[in-house]
Amino acid sequence: MGMLEGKVALITGAATGIGAACARALAREGAQVACTSLPTDPIAEVVASIQAEGGQAIGVPLDVTNATQAAEVVDRIAGELGGIHILLNNAGITDDGLFLRMKPEAWRRVLAVNLDGVFHVTQPVVRHMVKQREGRIINISSVVGLMGNPGQANYAASKAALIGLTKTLARELGGRNILVNAVAPGFIQTPMTDKLSPEQRQALVANLAVPRLGTPEDIAAVVLFLASPAASYVTGEVINVSGGLYM
Ligand code: NAP
Repeated sequence: MGMLEGKVALITGAATGIGAACARALAREGAQVACTSLPTDPIAEVVASIQAEGGQAIGVPLDVTNATQAAEVVDRIAGELGGIHILLNNAGITDDGLFLRMKPEAWRRVLAVNLDGVFHVTQPVVRHMVKQREGRIINISSVVGLMGNPGQANYAASKAALIGLTKTLARELGGRNILVNAVAPGFIQTPMTDKLSPEQRQALVANLAVPRLGTPEDIAAVVLFLASPAASYVTGEVINVSGGLYM
């Protein structure tokens, strides 16, 4: 029997990269996983791969920038699957550029997905978790939110904001048996970092204590821990998973 048997997990941006790896990891431990993604994303492949391993998953279209859609999707998933016990706020984008040249649209687009999107999904989920008197919320931040990164003012601001949100929700909701934590990945091999040139990649690896890019599975292992009974006294934490990029 898996350690998440009987639990329902909702993951945003679950079609690719870290979200897809987390969906697989939670399903392997017995969770029913609602894999949400933009309607254009190949979510059916992730759902099929989970089902092929004997896991339980459904694919649900969800653009996290749409508050109305987010509330509807959350209520539908909770109704159909019997609650939501684990929320993984994973959907995120970059739109890089030096601050002096950054267009307001690039600023707003990144904040709309990475921060507003988390608000839109988390508030309706928390309503269910409060009634259940049980919940785990895991926000995917970034080491960039802790250490800054030239060319990523919008992204760093959004990821730092998630850390403030994580700690505040941990304080507000701990008494209701809802634990809230963040994971701050370093540089992980996903579609988001596929954009890096070989030279940029080499320069990055040179700064790491563990000299390789991380894998989505490296992040999924820590997300699984935070979702599991083993983490029942852990809340308000930010766990860096960065191969020593930030320590
Ligand atoms: P990814 O494969 O690009 O995953 C992000 C997912 O979010 C994609 O499936 C993307 O869909 C989806 N998404 C974008 N806009 C959305 C929206 N409005 N509504 C719902 N979903 C949306 O990259 P990843 O590396 O796995 O990123 C996952 C999370 O980890 C992100 O929050 C990212 O900031 C964070 N992170 C990544 C790294 C890294 O090095 N890779 C480091 C630190 C933190 P599309 O593909 O259609 O855009």
